[in-house]
Amino acid sequence: MESKVTKTEAQWRAELPEPSFCVLRQGDTERPFTGRFWDHHEAGIYACRGCGTELFGSDSKFDSGPGWPSYFRPLAPDALALVRDRSHGMERVEVRCARCEGHLGHLFDDGPPPTRQRYCINSASLDFRPAGKP
Ligand code: FE
Repeated sequence: MESKVTKTEAQWRAELPEPSFCVLRQGDTERPFTGRFWDHHEAGIYACRGCGTELFGSDSKFDSGPGWPSYFRPLAPDALALVRDRSHGMERVEVRCARCEGHLGHLFDDGPPPTRQRYCINSASLDFRPAGKP
């Protein structure tokens, strides 16, 4: 993995649009069916909105129903950091970008084959790079 990206809260706030800052740096969850990517079907790569690390491919995206973009596997397992999350009275696994530690979403085990995993990710934490373009 490339070296870690570390910035102050003020730097992140200055760099990121408000919804991305709230998700990536404050752990917020965007309202379902509101983000750019829950109903997005182009071929390409989804990268971290904070640091640009490529996280998910469109070939692992599936329609999960709840209104957030969902993937059944990451491009590379070490691109993500999984953190136990006991907030809001639930026992969940938080998904973060390993490089900038930005909050992305949560991981559930009710996804489709072959992995049965569901990476439920906030659109505001992602950027999209269409296939075939640099
Ligand atoms: Fe990142």
